[in-house]
Amino acid sequence: MFRVGIGHDTHRLSEGRPLVLGGVRLESDRGAEGHSDADALAHAVTDAVLGAMCEGDIGVYFPDSDPRWRGADSLQLLARVMWLAKERGYRVVNVDSTVLLERPKLRPYVDEMRARLAEVLGVEVERVSVKAKSGEGLDAVGEWRAVTAHAVVLLEKQ
Ligand code: MG
Repeated sequence: MFRVGIGHDTHRLSEGRPLVLGGVRLESDRGAEGHSDADALAHAVTDAVLGAMCEGDIGVYFPDSDPRWRGADSLQLLARVMWLAKERGYRVVNVDSTVLLERPKLRPYVDEMRARLAEVLGVEVERVSVKAKSGEGLDAVGEWRAVTAHAVVLLEKQ
């Protein structure tokens, strides 16, 4: 049995915050605001896995109100969700994702993001796609005020 899930996440950008995407710290003058490390890509992938299992969303498992998740490494949150998926007999077939960020250019970081995510998802890197887009100077992404990520995951029940 196959199950597909979709994930989306947006974080506001501001100065004095780290910018972490797919578990990789980027060189940037602006970072993402949030309760955890605000890794929008990891959050979108986590929501996609939860969605494929019909298990709600990341806010159900890791609420903002819980001090345990303050500054949390979002790959650790994804790892917890993957533990749940594994327990239910699911494995990841593939993940596709897109990150929308005006700058810096993501291309130099993409392979490391894929590797970090693949490790946590328990699959080969060839099964994890990360694509990068800018906002072309339009909307909140284009004005360098936000980072957004979309993800789709296909799970197979073994
Ligand atoms: Mg988030």
